[in-house]
Amino acid sequence: MLPLRLPRLCVAVIGSDANAMVEKAEALVRDNSFMEFRLDYLSKPGLALPRIKRFIESHPGTVVIATCRRAVNGGKFRGSIASQLDILGKAAAAGCQLLDVELQTVSKCKPAQLQKLRSRAALILSFHDFRATKKLDETLEKMIEFPADYYKVVSTATTLSDNVTMIKFLTREGDRHSLISMCMGEQGIISRVLGVRAGSAFTFAAASAAEATAPGQVTAQELRNVYRIEQVDVATRVYGVVGDPIAHSLSPAIMNAAFRRENVNAVYLALHAKTLKDLLTCVKEIPIHGISVTMPYKEAIVPFLDNTDSHTTKVGACNTVVRAQDGKLYGFNTDTAGIVRPLERRLNTIEGARILVIGAGGAARAAVFGLKERGAEVYILNRTAAHAKKLAHQARARIMKRPDLKRMAFDVIINATPVGMGNSKETPLRDKEINARYVFDMIYDPAETRLMKLAKERGAQIIPGIEMFVHQAARQFEIWTGKPAPWDDMLRVVLLAQQERANHSAAAK
Ligand code: NAP
Repeated sequence: MLPLRLPRLCVAVIGSDANAMVEKAEALVRDNSFMEFRLDYLSKPGLALPRIKRFIESHPGTVVIATCRRAVNGGKFRGSIASQLDILGKAAAAGCQLLDVELQTVSKCKPAQLQKLRSRAALILSFHDFRATKKLDETLEKMIEFPADYYKVVSTATTLSDNVTMIKFLTREGDRHSLISMCMGEQGIISRVLGVRAGSAFTFAAASAAEATAPGQVTAQELRNVYRIEQVDVATRVYGVVGDPIAHSLSPAIMNAAFRRENVNAVYLALHAKTLKDLLTCVKEIPIHGISVTMPYKEAIVPFLDNTDSHTTKVGACNTVVRAQDGKLYGFNTDTAGIVRPLERRLNTIEGARILVIGAGGAARAAVFGLKERGAEVYILNRTAAHAKKLAHQARARIMKRPDLKRMAFDVIINATPVGMGNSKETPLRDKEINARYVFDMIYDPAETRLMKLAKERGAQIIPGIEMFVHQAARQFEIWTGKPAPWDDMLRVVLLAQQERANHSAAAK
């Protein structure tokens, strides 16, 4: 029997053989009462059914979809339509309450065959477009010619705006038909999280990152714990971090944790925008309440905003956008808070402090203007002298010549370049050039850069880039919600995510 209301999340279960598949299901069932057995992943799907039957009998509250998608329709089953229908019929007899059949299969079936299948279990009639999001209405028109319990229309997002198309489709059609719809692909995350509130009966998730059965499929744990999909409702505010690339951003982990901690009904998504136009369309249409802007859009977005505060205008780069009730977009720069706050915690005062900023890009600009506004004596050192000169002129800061470094002592040296990032062992300064009480490296991947190591050896105290990351995020949280940010929780979550990432890359070596 199908429950009146299906859970929002269905986990796709795969396995190399029947045992592996059912063992996986056993491991998942405690947290997931709704599963899809992807029978097409098995070389002999029919042989798995007695085991699946026992699994269903021993977990009576579980709802199970049986899918045996044919290879021509994007699955792995190489048998004929007749054998696909035969397996699905047997899956129903084994207790699977829902059967997924592709439109392409159904189009070639006799009505009686379909009728027979439907008399045994609820039918999900599915269509997957692995290339694009288009002709959703036409596809549904074709599908509803065949009686089914659910119509699953899945497309591929190649832009953020494709999510807008999908969500509008769900909003339009979700009341008239029982739909299950989302966009596949890395850019489809919006539709996976927000589709359920727009009208999708449920969404699909992977059991683990390595077991995704569709491109861009998110894990059940992530959808539940990070994106809190079970709580998303019409009042949920939508935020996101936008950039290109964006897949490795720590922002969703930290911001969703902060929303959860402070009971803010909001969700924060990773938005992969390949163009600014795509991002702006999406922000307006979804509608998104606020965005964190990261590379490469921090400067490019400024002309498209309705207003920026005076500090952001001076810096010329924006990392925080608020969408006001009137739809207007307001820009702020919280990177400055990310730099100033850690220093305020350590120095008695920033006023009069002698600070060297290495770099003259966006982050350096936020540092130089922010520190100058607080009365620091700021020096700039940059690879391209002309960029340093321009920034020094705009902010009334001083230029530092590298040969003079050995003779200078600073309260703080800030690295605002990517030198030392990732696996690089490079350092923007040699050891003898590091004469400072504090060395602040904006880089947070790796957690400890070569510059930090050298600085420690020189007796300096370290301010890690992760502190900047958490402070700039905390300030964004404050701007968006008007509440104080749960700083300690945010730091804890991000350190944990950083550690997991380090473990993961160590294991991969
Ligand atoms: P950006 O606008 O591209 O500026 C990069 C700066 O670094 C430029 O001044 C550039 O010099 C210099 N640079 C680049 N490669 C160099 C090299 N190989 N040797 C010497 N100098 C080099 O970047 P950004 O947005 O300012 O970001 C800078 C760093 O800060 C990045 O590592 C970023 O991840 C980090 N960051 C961290 C946080 C955080 O929350 N912790 C926030 C923002 C940024 P030229 O002028 O000669 O090109």
